[in-house]
Amino acid sequence: MDTFGRPLRNLRLSVTDRCNLRCEYCMPEDDYVWLPREDILHFEETSRLVDIFLSLGVDKIRLTGGEPLLRRDVPALVRMIAAKPGLKDLALTTNGVLLADQIDALKDAGLGRITVSLDTLHQERFKKLTRFDQLDAVHAGIAAAYRVYGRLKIDTVVLRGVNDDELVPLMEYSRSVNAEVRFIEYMDVGGASRWSPERVVSRRAMLDTLARHYGVIVPVDEPGSSAPAERFALEDGTTFGIIASTTAPFCSTCDRSRLTADGMWYLCLYATHGTDLRAPLRQGASDDALKAIVGAGWRARTDRGAEDRLALGEQRAFVPIQDLLRKDPHLEMHTRGG
Ligand code: SAM
Repeated sequence: MDTFGRPLRNLRLSVTDRCNLRCEYCMPEDDYVWLPREDILHFEETSRLVDIFLSLGVDKIRLTGGEPLLRRDVPALVRMIAAKPGLKDLALTTNGVLLADQIDALKDAGLGRITVSLDTLHQERFKKLTRFDQLDAVHAGIAAAYRVYGRLKIDTVVLRGVNDDELVPLMEYSRSVNAEVRFIEYMDVGGASRWSPERVVSRRAMLDTLARHYGVIVPVDEPGSSAPAERFALEDGTTFGIIASTTAPFCSTCDRSRLTADGMWYLCLYATHGTDLRAPLRQGASDDALKAIVGAGWRARTDRGAEDRLALGEQRAFVPIQDLLRKDPHLEMHTRGG
């Protein structure tokens, strides 16, 4: 348990800081400082750290990035992790571009669940938002996930004036591929995200829009859940989620931490400092020594980044200085894993 009694349970493993899209709210810059290649953990190193986390209570792991499917042979990593005792849930978040080619290998390796990020169904809008003409590839990835898994999740960041007119079409599309859609409030996560309060569509506004079209929407009761999404149901039973990190942070139940591809461990999406696990690992630290570092780090955890950000109001103060981002690429969302 950390300082606020939150258990260490969920680990987001970022396997690369590289991405094959350039979503304007996530990677708006023309060039980035990438993690040095020699710093990226080998799969054996990642697997050893995963063992440490599992021994301390983690039982859910999500592979992310950057774009995780850009990392060579991700199914091999999935195979190493999926077989570990104590792991209850192994998921992957992807933009879907490379998914159709890899889905069979991922399933075969033991990946439990897939989430695909998709913000728009309009070709031109997709091109403008992501700066790549890859909507067809994403649709192919989603179709492949539906074929192989029978169901999936779709994550949509809702941006005012960009895709806030697509809530109903995205709900309908998701239904057609047996996906549960989760609408995400635009977050000021530090990094270069071009965030501004005017661009946020709140949970309240999303629910109003959906209720105008679908009628009564009821919350789905999930006592004790630490999931970021609050789930709702339409009258016909279709369920969907809203992740209201910006207007209604859920720090009090947050059991997530993040490991970057180069072995930095962050206790909060908003944290500006992480714990270097690569150095002790490569210097030959024993399992007990690594457990002591992670255990002590978690017990001392006081992070409530989204609540702190909300308390700041509209003044932007998270990581305001571009120079700082250049000095430390870990502060970017695509490095620490969304
Ligand atoms: N490349 C993978 C993908 O597209 O899902 C995984 C990494 S991506 C950083 C993970 C998620 O973070 C995506 O759904 C993306 O839309 C979301 N994201 C990035 N920046 C965000 C922001 N400022 N606010 C809310 N969500 C954001």
